[in-house]
Amino acid sequence: MASFSVRFLGCKISHVDAHAVRERLLADGHEELDAAADVAVVNTCCVTHEAVTKSRKEATRAARTHRRVYVTGCGANLSGDAFAGLPDNVLVVARRIEETPDFVAGDVGAIGCVRADARLDRVRAFVKVQDGCSFSCRFCVIPLVRGASRSRAADAVLDEIRRRVAQGHREVVLTGINLGCYRDRAAGYRLPRLVREAGSTPGLERLRLSSIEINHVDDELVRALRETPTASRHLHVPLQSGDDAVLQAMGRRYSTGTYLRRLEGLREEFNLTSDVIVGFPAEDERAFENTLRVVEEAGLTKVHVFPYSPRPGTVTAADDPVPSQVKKERSARLRAASHAACLAHWGSKVGRDDVVLVDRPGRGYGDDYSPWLVPESAPVGELVGVRGAAVSEEGILAA
Ligand code: SF4
Repeated sequence: MASFSVRFLGCKISHVDAHAVRERLLADGHEELDAAADVAVVNTCCVTHEAVTKSRKEATRAARTHRRVYVTGCGANLSGDAFAGLPDNVLVVARRIEETPDFVAGDVGAIGCVRADARLDRVRAFVKVQDGCSFSCRFCVIPLVRGASRSRAADAVLDEIRRRVAQGHREVVLTGINLGCYRDRAAGYRLPRLVREAGSTPGLERLRLSSIEINHVDDELVRALRETPTASRHLHVPLQSGDDAVLQAMGRRYSTGTYLRRLEGLREEFNLTSDVIVGFPAEDERAFENTLRVVEEAGLTKVHVFPYSPRPGTVTAADDPVPSQVKKERSARLRAASHAACLAHWGSKVGRDDVVLVDRPGRGYGDDYSPWLVPESAPVGELVGVRGAAVSEEGILAA
């Protein structure tokens, strides 16, 4: 038996992938430790240059305290020499995500099944339903490292949700790289049907979508969310830019008009959050101001701001004309606008009731994924009824 530790960097998909390796190692009878262990798995991210640097640092750190380190995930599949020159005990596993758990487990050495059903280490369960992406946004490295879009069978997804609920998870997040591309053709499922059936799982209290492209926010999906009582009133819809010329240069498949039209009327019902890239090569000051305007017009609250960084192998890999100081300054302006929108949204909850999933001592998220500050005594992992008393810089204070 080997002892192991697993870390991940990056998004929810990276967390799900890391957990798949963890679950596989536990199933083979290996022991998970928080501190130094025989084996470390570092599931990496490569969505920005900074993410690769952090992934590299994490692998280097792990190499000092573990006999063997497996570098897995998106970063491991990046072309070039992102992980070159690491210590000899580091193995970069450049394989399809689906093959990685078996490969790592095979290399560590199986010793017989003792815990085939490991609970996720987080309060909410992220259930991956789809992987890869067949879009071709010009800045994006994801299709290169994760391949084309493919979906899990609906049966397997619904089984996993039942299993997670039985393990005590109250909230499930349907997760994918491009979730709206979900299809199980043989069984006749697309995302709206999956939402309805997943959301009806006995014992499940809350279902959320991780992120959805605007092209997939259609009447059928919105109806499914409205008609599924467990579906959270939250939609994370990447905008990337609020300027049509920039969107076109990015190879995105919509205009700002489409983005605004599809979200029209939803802001009263859903908390709308987003991702924006700042300082893309085609972005001048006017284009950036258009982004600020669209963020406001769409009623977006939390915006995750990503200063543009060129990724190897992409169409815009050699293109990065916007000075980093300008990116920093625009990022700060957009973050400030987003924070003001969050405060206004949180303020609308004062005097109103909500149900919060407590995910850390004193903190949690309400139905629409607004952050709440709850008493330290509120039990982690449970849903608690709250009433908004006031707003702080970090969220809504529960009475
Ligand atoms: S939709 Fe675009 S940004 Fe998102 S993963 Fe696919 S290629 Fe990347």
